[in-house]
Amino acid sequence: MNCKLIFVTGGVLSSLGKGITAASIAFLLKEKGLNVGQMKLDPYLNVDPGTMSPYQHGEVYVTEDGAETDLDLGHYERFTGIATSHLSNVTTGKIYDSVIKKERRGHYLGQTVQVIPHVTNEIKSKILEATQNDSLDVLIVEIGGTVGDIESQPFLEAIRQFRQTKLTTCIYIHLTYVPYMAAAGEMKTKPTQHSAGELYKSGITPDFIFTRSEKEMPIDLKKKIALFCGVEIQHVVNVIDVSSTIYEVPILLKEQKVDHMITTILGIEKKNSACTAWKKMLTNYHNRKGSTTIGVVGKYIELDDAYKSIFEALLHSSIEVGVVINIERIDADFTKTNEKVFIKQVRKCNGIIIPGGFGERGIDGKLLAAKLCRENKIPCLGICLGMQIIAIEFARNILGHIDANSTEFDPKTKNPVISLLVEQEGVENMGGTMRLGHQECRLDKKSKVYKVYKKEKIFERHRHRYEFNNNYKEEFNKNGLKIVGELHNKELCEIIENEKHPFMIGVQYHPEYQSQPIKPHPLFSSLIKQALK
Ligand code: GLN
Repeated sequence: MNCKLIFVTGGVLSSLGKGITAASIAFLLKEKGLNVGQMKLDPYLNVDPGTMSPYQHGEVYVTEDGAETDLDLGHYERFTGIATSHLSNVTTGKIYDSVIKKERRGHYLGQTVQVIPHVTNEIKSKILEATQNDSLDVLIVEIGGTVGDIESQPFLEAIRQFRQTKLTTCIYIHLTYVPYMAAAGEMKTKPTQHSAGELYKSGITPDFIFTRSEKEMPIDLKKKIALFCGVEIQHVVNVIDVSSTIYEVPILLKEQKVDHMITTILGIEKKNSACTAWKKMLTNYHNRKGSTTIGVVGKYIELDDAYKSIFEALLHSSIEVGVVINIERIDADFTKTNEKVFIKQVRKCNGIIIPGGFGERGIDGKLLAAKLCRENKIPCLGICLGMQIIAIEFARNILGHIDANSTEFDPKTKNPVISLLVEQEGVENMGGTMRLGHQECRLDKKSKVYKVYKKEKIFERHRHRYEFNNNYKEEFNKNGLKIVGELHNKELCEIIENEKHPFMIGVQYHPEYQSQPIKPHPLFSSLIKQALK
């Protein structure tokens, strides 16, 4: 087997940034000219995160091929620009689903089906599948959760077996936390020692210990960790908190020669990399001048992770445009905020994003935001549900269909401007059955959005069930909310824009999934430029 494997585990506590660490390593190896893949193993029982609430899981990230996945895949793509796929995210639920299906088909006839070896073999085969038939040089596999969790054990056992079977070279990186204890006036390594011990119990000897800490770790502590965890001193890598942006992390790792150490172990030393474009992006980040305020009107607004890709896309575009963005988080749920405060918040923004969402809660707030943007010419980008909201608001307040709605919120409305396609009617399975993944869309050359993209043919990713109802197309077009983008070869609305407004654009897809720090998405950059006017 040619493809080498790098496993990233985490210990002590969750939210240490394993995803960002894994993505940063992938970036550095890609910069060295390697063909890199990334994968995330998640220990929960859902087949995918598609049916989970953002409160549970944060944003659902959608791959080109239409898989609903963990948000860490978003980091992977943003750092490397390499597309992930349905092979890149495997959950315990998915593993058990295939084991049980195989069992019913008689695949294991005569055997007692067990966690070891059947579940672990299934995990291993999914990892092998993600090496894309061995065509990658390196696959980086992040294991979700924290070592010591009951749920992670089959995954740890599976990755342990890779080294034992000597199929390929494996590297195990363990990310831990080294807290600073104010009372003692020093940083503490004990949690890291215990965490490495926990990993040992699973039969895994880490090759690297990456330590998250608030302050730089003194060399003595590195030595202590090296000794107690059985790794070489230079393999104790300190990932200190970056005060500015997560996009500094790859450089932080490069300064500690992580890329060089890894390729040396893997025996695939390649060209030296300078990370020129990335460093230029970071310089631009620090050179931004002035600021503008963009409001994001959502119902999970207190939760950073729920709109992860949107916040990141705004940051990428802010680097490109050269201006700092103050994000105004506007709660769309009037049971949590009051209308007066809400109106004030919207009006103080230079631009508004109405993001995607499901279910009725917060709809009134979003509709009011769309109305305020339309009437006050505030630049506004509606994404997915946001596009549907722009359409409903227009139908109610300009076309005079006061009961206009989406059938998602009012199945009996007489004016279903947003409704289900026949194919979606009666769909019983909630998981994985929406319009998902990247699809080709054609733009009207006379539109404003064409000036944004500067091309006619675009590919964008989708995740929704309801669609703009074409029975209203003519009426909308005639009255100035124009359908200016449609799915290729099908009369299905992708983009609407308000003719009489400088920038009021609704897109049925999710542009945020494709934005990268060194390749920002033009829709977000245009929104910011309009906000500055
Ligand atoms: N709830 C809407 C639909 O299913 C919008 C989905 C979204 O915003 N992702 O069509």
